[in-house]
Amino acid sequence: MRCVVANWKMNLNSDEARAFCEDLLGRFTPKSGTEVGIAPPYTLLRLVSDLVRPKGLKVFGQNGHAEAKGAFTGEISMPQLLDAGCSGVILGHSERRQFFGETDAALAKKIKAAWQWNLLPLLCIGETLAQRDAGQTLEVLRQQLFILSETGPGPLWVAYEPVWAIGTGRRAEAAQVREAHAFIRSELNRHLAGTDHQVPILYGGSVTPESFPELLGIPEVAGGLVGGASLDPRKFAELVKQAY
Ligand code: PEP
Repeated sequence: MRCVVANWKMNLNSDEARAFCEDLLGRFTPKSGTEVGIAPPYTLLRLVSDLVRPKGLKVFGQNGHAEAKGAFTGEISMPQLLDAGCSGVILGHSERRQFFGETDAALAKKIKAAWQWNLLPLLCIGETLAQRDAGQTLEVLRQQLFILSETGPGPLWVAYEPVWAIGTGRRAEAAQVREAHAFIRSELNRHLAGTDHQVPILYGGSVTPESFPELLGIPEVAGGLVGGASLDPRKFAELVKQAY
C-alpha cells in the first residue's frame, strides 16, 4: 500500500481550501492501493471532509487530546475529530514536540485514545540535526517507538521525518532514508510481533515531485507526509500520481 498525506499546518482559509479540493480532485482518479489524505486545520475539517471523503480520500486531524472532553482550553478531542469527518490523526509531529512540549508519555495516551475512537494514528518520529550529528539517530527512533510497548499493537501509520529536513528544502539522502526506514521496520516488527498489523512507513521532509520518485524506490518507503508541496494542488496531485 502507498500513502500520500498533505499536512496543511496552519495554512489556508475556507475559500482557499474549497478551491484546493475542487482543483485537486479534478487532477487524479483515486486508485485502490494508494491512500490519499489531507490534514487541514481544525476549522476546515468539516468543509474538507465533505468535499474529499466521497472521493475516497482520508482526512486527518493535526493533533488530538487524549481526553474525550473537559476543561482543556484550545484543545480538540478524538471524538470531535471523528465528528468533523476525520478518519485519522497526525500525532507527534516534530512541530508539536518542539513548540508545544509534546512528550512520548502524552503520545502513548493519545494513540490509545485515537484507537478508542476508531481513528488511525499517523505517528511522526525523527531526529534533530544535533542528534544526527551526535550519531544518535537510531537511538532516538528506538526511543520514540518505545511507546508502542505501552500502547500495545493497533492500526498505525508511521512517518519518518528528520526534523532538519522539515520545511528546510533539505531532503534526507537516500542512504539516510534507507537506514532509518529499515531500522523503523525492524523495531515495528519487534513491537508488533504476533499481530497482523501492516504499518506503512512514510517519509516526510521537503518532499517535492522532483524528489519523490527516488524516495519511493527506497525499500520500506510507503509514501510521503508532505507539508510545503501539499499547498499546491498541482504538485500534490503529481505526488499522488507518482505513488500509483
Ligand atoms: C511536514 O510538515 O510534515 C513536512 C514534512 O513538511 P515539509 O514537506 O514542508 O518539509
